[in-house]
Amino acid sequence: MSYVITPAPHSTVLVANSNDLFPVHRIYCVGRNYAAHAREMGGNPEREPPFFFCKPADAVVPVPAGETIALAYPHETTNYHHEIELVVAIGKTGKNITERRAHDHIWGYAVGLDMTRRDLQSALREKNQPWELAKAFDESAPLAPLYPVSRIGHPKAGSIWLKVNGELRQEGRIEHMIWSVTETISHLSRYFELQPGDLIFTGTPAGVGPVVVGDALSGGIDGLGEIAVHSVAA
Ligand code: MN
Repeated sequence: MSYVITPAPHSTVLVANSNDLFPVHRIYCVGRNYAAHAREMGGNPEREPPFFFCKPADAVVPVPAGETIALAYPHETTNYHHEIELVVAIGKTGKNITERRAHDHIWGYAVGLDMTRRDLQSALREKNQPWELAKAFDESAPLAPLYPVSRIGHPKAGSIWLKVNGELRQEGRIEHMIWSVTETISHLSRYFELQPGDLIFTGTPAGVGPVVVGDALSGGIDGLGEIAVHSVAA
C-alpha cells in the first residue's frame, strides 16, 4: 500500500539549546484562565469549570531563540489580536489523570502566542457558533523553543509579558491562572486521552490587543526565554 497523495510533513516545535524536535500531535487551548483577562473579555472571572478549544497541529510556527519570524497578517479580519501564553507539552499518554500525577505527563514548557481574529471570535460567540475561524487559522500558534522538564523542572511562578513595538501590553504571573497546569491536565484528560506530542495553551493574562502590519511583538515567561515575531502584509 502507498499514499495516494504526499502526506503532510509532521508539525514540530524546537527544543531549546539542542537540535532536537518535538513532534506535535494536537493543540488544546484553555479559554479565559486569568481573572483580569476574563473581565476584559466581558466574561465571569469566577471559577467556572475550564473550557477548551483546539487549533490544528500545523498552526504551529516554530520561532528559533533569538530570531524574529515574519507572520503574515491573516485575511478576513480587521482586528487581529495577540495572546501570550504558557504552553505545556505532553510527553506521556493518559486519561482521567489525577492532579497529583499530572506532572508525570509533562515533557516540557514553552512560550507561545494564541493569535486570534478577535472580530470573528466576538461575532461567533454572539451567535453561539464554534471558534475555529477565529482561533484555528494558519500560523495562529507561534511557539518559542520548548524547555524540557528534565532540565528546568516545573515552573511554579513567574512573570509573563508581551510588548508591542517595545511597549508593554500584557503582563501577568503564571501562578495567577484560575486553573493551574495540573488542574487543567486533570480536567482535559477526562474528555480526551492525552498523547505524547499534545500541546496545551494555558490562557492569556490581561492586556490583549490589536496587531497591525509592521508591528514587532516580543514576549516571554521567566525561565522559558522569549518569543519574537513581526507582522507583515499577506
Ligand atoms: Mn488564548
